[in-house]
Amino acid sequence: MKIGFIGLGNMGAPMAANLAKAGHEVVGFDVAGATAEAVAQAGSAAEAASGADVVICMLPNGDILRRVADEVIPAMERSAILLDCSTVDVASARDVAAQAEAAGLRPLDAPVSGGTGGAQAGTLTFMVGGGADAFAEARPLFDVMGAKAVHCGPSGNGQAAKICNNMILGVTMIATCEAFALADRLGLDRQAMFDVVSTSSGNSWSMSTYCPAPGVGPKSPADNDYRPGFAADLMLKDLRLSQQAAETADADTPMGQLAAELYRSFVEDENGAGRDFSAMLPRFEGRGRS
Ligand code: NAD
Repeated sequence: MKIGFIGLGNMGAPMAANLAKAGHEVVGFDVAGATAEAVAQAGSAAEAASGADVVICMLPNGDILRRVADEVIPAMERSAILLDCSTVDVASARDVAAQAEAAGLRPLDAPVSGGTGGAQAGTLTFMVGGGADAFAEARPLFDVMGAKAVHCGPSGNGQAAKICNNMILGVTMIATCEAFALADRLGLDRQAMFDVVSTSSGNSWSMSTYCPAPGVGPKSPADNDYRPGFAADLMLKDLRLSQQAAETADADTPMGQLAAELYRSFVEDENGAGRDFSAMLPRFEGRGRS
């Protein structure tokens, strides 16, 4: 396929490179001049988009996506697919999809999980909103860039799935970290805590796969001085998106709201920026009750 790829950052560059290596003709553009292996460079987003069967975006946020969409939609061939893999707010995803449909294009919102390691290895998971025919047509691209793609329903539902999942993740990580800190103060050994909880009803992915306690459980960022992994800043971004969506939809999400506030203070006031999101454990360790 002929692919335009807009946004060649930490995630976009390896994704674009994997598509090129798989034999697709990929033309990329990034405002910062970033490039990707085996990917031709265009002088603008519109140039990368013109003549493409699929235009993929991997951008920082919804405002930037809207600006890029204004530029690329008029440049795209009718019935081409606009595949946005960025994590953005549900409202931006749905507005851009409506704009693309009105121009005769087929939009898909397909945020990912799996991080930069997954982008490099081609093992991302895609959560996809949009039409079934476009999803089927984009399937070979998902297969190159990822290991799994789930069709979640109409436009915006990919973003909805992503922020709901990450709201659960933020909450369970905080719960796991505060429980470890409590166990410490009660004199309970961390290995014993892990052995019990990882096989009991308190278990979650945050405990059994990504344990925030160093030296306990499988290897995780905790064993690498909390270097990300999944940065607390990105968790904060996703939790904010979940709360923005909850407000729009009038959904009561007290745990998600509290998780967003805890990650906000961790990132903005407590040197959490640039640390893995599981570094909530040393944060709790160092604090008393008040
Ligand atoms: P990044 O900041 O490394 O990359 C974004 C790129 O977009 C940058 O290179 C930037 O120059 C470019 N850009 C900005 N405005 C542009 C414009 N108008 N035109 C063209 N290019 C433009 O970010 P990233 O880590 O690659 O993340 C990209 C998206 O993926 C984000 O929405 C993020 O939330 C999501 N995501 C990231 C991870 C991760 O672990 N990094 C995991 C899952 C999802």
